[in-house]
Amino acid sequence: MRQDTVQARQDGNGKAAIRAGVLQQPRATRMLDKLNRPLHDLRISVTDRCNFRCTYCMPKEIFGTRFKFLPRSEVLSFEEITRTARLFTQLGVEKLRLTGGEPLVRKGIEELVAQLAGLRTLDGKPLDITLTTNGSMLARKAQALADAGLRRVTVSLDALDDTVFQAMNDIGFPVAKVLDGIEAAREAGLAPIKVNVVVKRGTNDQEILPVVRHFIGTGITPRFIEFMDVGNTNGWCMDEVLPGADVVQRISSEFPLVRLQASTAGETAQRWGFAGRDGRHDPMLGEVGVICSVTRPFCQSCNRARLSADGKIYTCLFATSGHDLRQVLRSGATDDDVLQFATDIWHGRSDRYSEIRASLPPSTRKAAHKIEMHYIGG
Ligand code: SAM
Ligand code: SF4
Ligand code: SF4
Repeated sequence: MRQDTVQARQDGNGKAAIRAGVLQQPRATRMLDKLNRPLHDLRISVTDRCNFRCTYCMPKEIFGTRFKFLPRSEVLSFEEITRTARLFTQLGVEKLRLTGGEPLVRKGIEELVAQLAGLRTLDGKPLDITLTTNGSMLARKAQALADAGLRRVTVSLDALDDTVFQAMNDIGFPVAKVLDGIEAAREAGLAPIKVNVVVKRGTNDQEILPVVRHFIGTGITPRFIEFMDVGNTNGWCMDEVLPGADVVQRISSEFPLVRLQASTAGETAQRWGFAGRDGRHDPMLGEVGVICSVTRPFCQSCNRARLSADGKIYTCLFATSGHDLRQVLRSGATDDDVLQFATDIWHGRSDRYSEIRASLPPSTRKAAHKIEMHYIGG
């Protein structure tokens, strides 16, 4: 269909013709980028603010009291976010992940969830809506989020040892309160629950086995994430990356694991199931995930676009600049103008940073303008 649209433009028929083209023909095929990747997920950062100061994401020295967060007027409203999500579903998006910053610090977040829950995929199905949170406010919010239509939740928890966890979140936040949040999510039916653990060698890698022991057989899936060089403020170095293969080896020294198939196309985590006595996966024991963003990049199947809190579209977590959708939205653009804007972005996409990271000169890897994780979300 985009071919038709482009043709109309080349014929000099102008915008009216472009609009007619878009409106008359339902989009039956998925959009592909330059590397033939479809657009499937939209990650929406609802705020750049957070109540934690995780050392690998928002180190206190940089994100202190003098740091200038986005002014309210620059942050997308719920209506702008919902409009964007609705239009992205017309381009093939089926999954939304709310993130941040900390999404639960955004006032009235459940209202946004309720608006998004009304959207449908191209096939008329409800969207898969999930949210990544540090869990600190989940005990209070889980039921309201579930009532609003949230399906699932991912909670970040880097250690079960309080000293280690409090040093990593750097505000002295206790493990027990995050565990309460996870419990509240379970009671509210926000399942399956995943627990994200960012592993930094020498900081919390001794926590891998305790985390596994804690969650095995509970239906909750821990996912161990390699420490990434997102942004420029977290002092990343390769020595602190514990390869996912080592994580698997450490876990299987105590709990035999079997590799499981990816459950969806473009899934970021390698899935490993706990083996029962017969050596086969025992679903009652559950599984773990390993996200090898550094050592085993998955750019080839990366089907995610990201919307920052101030309305920029990013096509890669390691991008140095975004596409200013907010400006388009606030200029009075029609739905078709927005669709065209998004389509052009996806068609022009060729990002594969993690695949080429090792071949980049250090000066490029440390480009001062690489976006920060708290701004774009995970
Ligand atoms: N505040 C929420 C949270 O922590 O879950 C959502 C936003 S946070 C940016 C999303 C995910 O990114 C979290 O699971 C976090 O642990 C992960 N993350 C942040 N910085 C990271 C880094 N440098 N490497 C790997 N994962 C990172
Ligand atoms: Fe906040 Fe999440 Fe970043 Fe930690 S990882 S500082 S909780 S946004
Ligand atoms: Fe996707 Fe960019 Fe990560 Fe590759 S580096 S998987 S393209 S976000």
